[in-house]
Amino acid sequence: MARRTIVAANWKMNGDLTLVDTMVKNLKTVELQDNVSVVICPSSPYLSSLVEKVSEQALNGAICIGAQNVSEHEYGAYTGEISTQMLQELSVEFVIIGHSERRGYYKETSTQVAHKVKAALNAGLTPILCIGESEAERATEQTEFVLASQLQPVIDEVGIEKFIDVVIAYEPVWAIGTGKTASSEMAQETHQFIRQFLAKANESVAAKVPLLYGGSVNASNCNELFAQVDIDGGLIGGASLQVEQFKAICLATKGK
Ligand code: PEP
Repeated sequence: MARRTIVAANWKMNGDLTLVDTMVKNLKTVELQDNVSVVICPSSPYLSSLVEKVSEQALNGAICIGAQNVSEHEYGAYTGEISTQMLQELSVEFVIIGHSERRGYYKETSTQVAHKVKAALNAGLTPILCIGESEAERATEQTEFVLASQLQPVIDEVGIEKFIDVVIAYEPVWAIGTGKTASSEMAQETHQFIRQFLAKANESVAAKVPLLYGGSVNASNCNELFAQVDIDGGLIGGASLQVEQFKAICLATKGK
């Protein structure tokens, strides 16, 4: 079953206008297969500039624009929030939802995450839904329970059929920004669990959902990770801020 392969860059609260410019110019030199999408998710003040640079370099379609968060509300008195409509107006196509930093620091619950996914889908944005267990949860063999309890509220809210337009990023919290990566076997095993969990609700949808791995992916470990049958690309943090590393990670999708 051919699925879309995606390499998404999560710049978090890093980067600047120079990086936007340099990254886009450098990615112009990278040739990727047609089934591969590269998504760059900068901080929201840089979204317009990214849109501009991508279009200047005639890379529309080759580089997709993503946001790092979105409000579950349509509009109104929500200081500091960004609506789906605002993202649409900026030609944003993807949005990261439920990143562990938002769940942890900003106390986003799985119910709120589900509402955000629904808002994004209603606006035609593709959610990159992040799920993942903590180190303690992995150590006490609760990984599958945690992943299921993060996925089920979203399935209940939007319905499994809508997952055809959802990308899932499995990001073990203990691997994010720590330099500790899940082994390719562990990542594959967990991705297989996620796909089987979705398949219990709808087998054909489950077969089509891109499952990205995230957590200290770099130029040295990406080939082995991307070679796994249920790993359809990656959500890349730290290494996506370094042009050469990110290019190498994009190129590791060859053969997917
Ligand atoms: C992330 O924040 O989504 C991430 C995977 O970060 P890093 O690659 O730095 O671990």
